[in-house]
Amino acid sequence: MSCHRPEGAGAAGAPRFEQDYNPFAVMRPRAPGATPKERKNGALVKANNVAPQGVYLPNYNILTPHMRSPEYVQMSTAAAITLGVMQGRMYRCDCTRCLNLLLTYPEGCRANCAYCGLARHREAERDYADRNFIRVDWPAVPLGTVIDTVARDVAGTPFHRMCISMITHPRSDEDTVTVLKAWTDRIDPAAIPVSILSNPTTMTRADVQRLRDLGADIFTVALDAATPEIFDRTRGKGVQSPHTWAKYWEILMDARDIFGREKFGAHIIIGMGETEHEALGLVQRLVDLGGHSHMFCFFPERGSLMDHLPATPRDQWRRVQLGRYLIDYRGARVERMSFDGEGRVVDYGVPRDELETVIEEGVAFRTSGCPGKFREDVSACDRPYGDSPPSDIASFPFQPSKGDRRGIRRQLRVVERKG
Ligand code: SF4
Repeated sequence: MSCHRPEGAGAAGAPRFEQDYNPFAVMRPRAPGATPKERKNGALVKANNVAPQGVYLPNYNILTPHMRSPEYVQMSTAAAITLGVMQGRMYRCDCTRCLNLLLTYPEGCRANCAYCGLARHREAERDYADRNFIRVDWPAVPLGTVIDTVARDVAGTPFHRMCISMITHPRSDEDTVTVLKAWTDRIDPAAIPVSILSNPTTMTRADVQRLRDLGADIFTVALDAATPEIFDRTRGKGVQSPHTWAKYWEILMDARDIFGREKFGAHIIIGMGETEHEALGLVQRLVDLGGHSHMFCFFPERGSLMDHLPATPRDQWRRVQLGRYLIDYRGARVERMSFDGEGRVVDYGVPRDELETVIEEGVAFRTSGCPGKFREDVSACDRPYGDSPPSDIASFPFQPSKGDRRGIRRQLRVVERKG
């Protein structure tokens, strides 16, 4: 078993465009269909009421047990392999450095984001704990098992960070606090720092403060969409989902006040219809506020309302990845960059030598996220193949090799430096 799906599994039937970017006009989600009453709100799982026994590996042929946070959490396949609760190998990776714990309920996430495998409309076809999310299965594990396993050898753990990922559910705020407390009661947050991937829609400023007081290190907001129009179309009214751009920014600004510089940030998905200028403008805004951006390449998740759309062309992705790194870590500014009529980067506004050094170093093309223990610009959250198949890596979960960097240069259409 490996932590990635067979090639093309998520993108089956997705059209390929000749353009080197995904324009707004093309990236329109499907409308969500109706869910039969007998499948709404996890009704089947609750009616079957199968008692969970230990670790649950998603299996579409058996009855999904009735599991709830805070007793149960889900984690990525990569985290489950690294924790040792699942067998498997990861292509060119020994482990993941981030233990992501996703809250879980039979009712699932009550939002309906168009690009997401966990979205509410999927209750029509699949129980929540069995859904694929960022291209992989998410096993469900008793929280006690997770904490016992890590607490046994904190000094020797491969994990550089733990992240509690909230979903949109009435219990989510309270259960995030319970999971955080249970973790910090046993594991020193100075040894393994904790990040919160928040769900602003149900949160108040007091919730943000409470998580900081309980020892959370970094607070991030999954803005995902780079513009208000794309936000509304993919995770707001456009798909019968409860989120609003204004509420996300309200909680992001609360996080800035409460967590402080370098301790807050936002997720952005590239290739959902924004221009490169818009994406890098948002990156600059976050840096000017004192935060960071964590970037993902759009991939058409199987079963989502955008699974018929093209993955982000690598040219667009590489250009934005490079621009984001220069703004976040090298003092570049979007106002000094040049863009063409379609909003594509044509010049980064930094000396040629510096650009060469950054491309050659390769860190700009790794996954981005909360830092681990290697260096500030290397993310603990390495999400192996979360946004691409391993045959065409978008975010590298490891240091790109010389051959990888040659491929990146081809995608960027930058000639290799001689000597
Ligand atoms: S709120 Fe998060 S988990 Fe829920 S559907 Fe949206 S992106 Fe997915």
